[in-house]
This record gives sequence, structure tokens and C-alpha cells, in this order.
Amino acid sequence: MRNIVIFGAPGSGKGTQSDKMIAKYGLKHISTGDVLRNEIKNGTELGKTAKEFIDNGQLIPDELMIDILASVYDSFGKEHGGVIFDGFPRTIPQAEALKKMLAERGHKVAAMIELDVPEEELMKRLLLRGQQSGRSDDNEETIKKRLGVYHHQTSPLIEWYKQEGIHNHIDGLGELERIFADVCTVIENI
Ligand code: AMP
Repeated sequence: MRNIVIFGAPGSGKGTQSDKMIAKYGLKHISTGDVLRNEIKNGTELGKTAKEFIDNGQLIPDELMIDILASVYDSFGKEHGGVIFDGFPRTIPQAEALKKMLAERGHKVAAMIELDVPEEELMKRLLLRGQQSGRSDDNEETIKKRLGVYHHQTSPLIEWYKQEGIHNHIDGLGELERIFADVCTVIENI
């Protein structure tokens, strides 16, 4: 089973690379950002809570995210070939909870793939995405907050996964196909 954490700052290409991994390897996919945006669209209580955090560039509280994650994971059944975790974990407690949730099911994360992209490029990509998709959190002020949250709360996970022995660094700047080839090398070595 190839459970993979695709990791990186907002705008690092996690969604794009996930789409290519799904197409090539038939993996399942959990994007916690997509799950939350869907809740907002459907006007649920969770969506209402989530919207405030998202529009402020902040993270949704860990307990809430962890419950959501387990229920989406279980919706894939027991026989899947692996799940891509996209946008989760974003804090050390989330990484610990993911490890525990998977262990309870006899599963584990096989690889963490970090897409490394310089900050100026992230800002450029997110501003462009904001113009094209109209995502409410892709504006300059909220992007700056999200990048700050990434540095303070999320980037310590790089060290955490190094200690787990499953961290893989990929240069996320440049040709899409070269980046995907690097991703495939990691997956095929699992
Ligand atoms: P994303 O689409 O992954 O960039 O997520 C958009 C926003 O959803 C983030 O800025 C957070 O506010 C929220 N979010 C997504 N995933 C998580 C998570 N794992 N923990 C907390 N908040 C999250």
C-alpha cells in the first residue's frame, strides 16, 4: 500500500502533482482544503466554521481536521492501493494523529514528498491562481498570512518526517514533467 504525504507550502504544486499521481498510479486522494471548500459550498456547520479560518489565512483546529481525515480515509474501504494526503498534516499533532490513525488500521505512511519552491515564486503562483480561480484566500494579504503559518506551524514537519526516515526532498521549481519524474522515482522506490 502506497500511502503518500505530498508536502509543501501553499502554491508548491501539491494539487497538480497529486492529479498526475492519481492518473498514473490509481491512488486515492484526500485534499483537506478541497474537503473544507466543499463543506463551505454546501453551507454546512463545519463549512461555516472553516470559512472564518480559511479567509483569515489560519489553520482549522487540529481536532476538527483529524476527525474529518479519519472519516474520509475510511470511506475508501480497506483494499485501496494507497492514499495521497494533500494538505494534511500541517502541524506536528496532525502528523502524530495520522500515524496513530493509520497504525490502528495496520497501515502507515510509506513516503513523505516535499516540494520545495522559493517564496517569491509561491507568491507569484498564488496571485495568478487567485485571478484565475477566484479562490477567496488567494489574495496578497491572506497569502502572506498563509506563508507565515506554513513557516511557523507546518515546516517543522520536514524535520519530523526526516526522523521517521521517510522524507524525500524534490526541487519544485522548473519543468512540471521533470518534477513529476522525480515524484515517480520516489513512488517506485517504495
Ligand atoms: P489548501 O487548499 O490545502 O491550501 O487549504 C486551504 C485552507 O484550508 C488552509 O489555508 C487552511 O485554512 C485550511 N486547511 C486545509 N487543510 C488543513 C489542515 N490540514 N489543517 C488545518 N487547516 C487546513
